[in-house]
Amino acid sequence: MRKRVLITGAAGFLGSHLCDRFIKEGFHVMGIDNLITGSLENIEHLFKLEQFEFYHHDVTKFVHVPGKLDYILHFASPASPIDYLKIPIQTLKVGSLGTHNLLGLAKEKNARILIASTSEVYGDPLVHPQSEDYYGNVNTIGPRGVYDEAKRFQESITMAYHRFHGLETRIVRIFNTYGPRMRLNDGRVIPAFMGQALRGEDLTIFGDGLQTRSFCYVDDQIEGIFRLLMSDYPLPVNIGNDDEITIKDFAEEIIKLTGTDQKIIYKELPIDDPMQRKPDISLAKKLLGWEAKVSRSEGMKRTYDYFKSLTKEKLHKSEH
Ligand code: NAD
Ligand code: UDP
Repeated sequence: MRKRVLITGAAGFLGSHLCDRFIKEGFHVMGIDNLITGSLENIEHLFKLEQFEFYHHDVTKFVHVPGKLDYILHFASPASPIDYLKIPIQTLKVGSLGTHNLLGLAKEKNARILIASTSEVYGDPLVHPQSEDYYGNVNTIGPRGVYDEAKRFQESITMAYHRFHGLETRIVRIFNTYGPRMRLNDGRVIPAFMGQALRGEDLTIFGDGLQTRSFCYVDDQIEGIFRLLMSDYPLPVNIGNDDEITIKDFAEEIIKLTGTDQKIIYKELPIDDPMQRKPDISLAKKLLGWEAKVSRSEGMKRTYDYFKSLTKEKLHKSEH
């Protein structure tokens, strides 16, 4: 009998890569998505497989799937700042009500559940690099608070189900991850810069560009998540690449990679935009024997090849 896994946010960037990975591992995969930020194109290649099922459903409403379930991965949630600023209430609901529904389902089915948390639980961090024992610096009432606090609540309710009901739970704190199937107009810095380069527009840096991020290629992220799910560790684990770069240097790298002759222009820094971000991955190394393998230059090349392969129509539809 195949093991059965339910993946929420299956039509999104990470969710669709998770579906591919679990199919490859021989699982029966059930995907759920309400398509609010995802696209069926990301999973259409799976529809012909009998070991794949898809449910178009909003997980903030009661969730039920037929048959037994071994694992649940809860990845449904807007993930890009412009998305969660546009749909703040849905963002809060999917992290809170949605997570509650999936924990309830896990309890009913006696399934192990992994929830997708984020480096945003550390907010604009006062500790660098960020390790799992740092409690964070989040502005609860700022515009980003809807995402950060939904994810913090998600972690709390997950630990409560673990402690109170003895549920098998896993929490991954994902740091900026990129790769093929990101939406060109999702506003995150990599699709933004690549889209601008491909359309012949100037690259927009927010603020002075001295803020840092550490970018993880999707294949590395999926490997880390898979290992964490299969581990026996219930507390949060950072998964990310610890190769840190300023956004300004990163823009220069994109200009070189794409060969664009456009320049950099500066725009206002969004409120509460974290100034520094780099994961401390000692725990993932020790616990899971995991660290990122794909360098930024290799990962960016693969991602650029993907964006280059998109039709002109898609490229221009993504202008905002
Ligand atoms: P994404 O927007 O590509 O995917 C999210 C998916 O969830 C979309 O397909 C969307 O339609 C679906 N969704 C949203 N609300 C839903 C609801 N109420 N019911 C059903 N489906 C719903 O984003 P992503 O980058 O793939 O992120 C996936 C998860 O990983 C999110 O939980 C996000 O918070 C987390 N995460 C991602 C990153 C990253 O760098 N990509 C970093 C930290 C955390
Ligand atoms: N950013 C930028 N130009 C853009 C989009 C983003 O300078 O066109 C900056 C953004 O302000 C942030 C960093 O790039 O400092 C990463 O932004 P992203 O939205 O990708 O992720 P997050 O802020 O959630 O880490």
